[in-house]
Amino acid sequence: MTATIRKDWDTYFMDIAYMVSTRSRCPRRHVGAVLVQGKKLLGTAYNGAPMGVPDCSEEGCMIVEQYEVVHQADGSEEMVKKQRCIRTIHAEQNLLLFTDRIDREGSTVYVTDQPCWTCANMLTNSGVTEIVFHRPYLKDTEKVTRMMEQRGIVFRQLLQYEPPQQAVEEIQKEHM
Ligand SMILES: [Zn+2]
Ligand SMILES: [Zn+2]
Repeated sequence: MTATIRKDWDTYFMDIAYMVSTRSRCPRRHVGAVLVQGKKLLGTAYNGAPMGVPDCSEEGCMIVEQYEVVHQADGSEEMVKKQRCIRTIHAEQNLLLFTDRIDREGSTVYVTDQPCWTCANMLTNSGVTEIVFHRPYLKDTEKVTRMMEQRGIVFRQLLQYEPPQQAVEEIQKEHM
């Protein structure tokens, strides 16, 4: 059968981002992000409540409801009410809080989910020159992609990628 193939770097670092995401205590969303300079791992982060503050597993999610414009297949737009947990600091923002500017210059961020508008905005100004993600976040795709183009940041999705089984199982276990 298939021989063990050495993992490529994209897979290697995205696997780490997924393993890091299992540490998130928000049951609604597990996001992991890693900072890579050359082929060196310089930081990891996940979405979570600020240190010393009860997290979602202790006090429940902090839910807000927002209306969002959803683009339909026929080109029309529809307003849909969505719920969001705002207790956590997003993984990308935590990554920026816990890494140094000098390490970020010319670096790559691997993140399990496509960054939201706010995170993308901050990443744009962080020194990072490449962002690699796996799961799409359609709400902000258009404006985020456009900004990355304007800023000359490589912004790409891993389409063929499969998350490590161990990460998937750990996240499922938490929901049982
Ligand atoms: Zn939450
Ligand atoms: Zn975000």
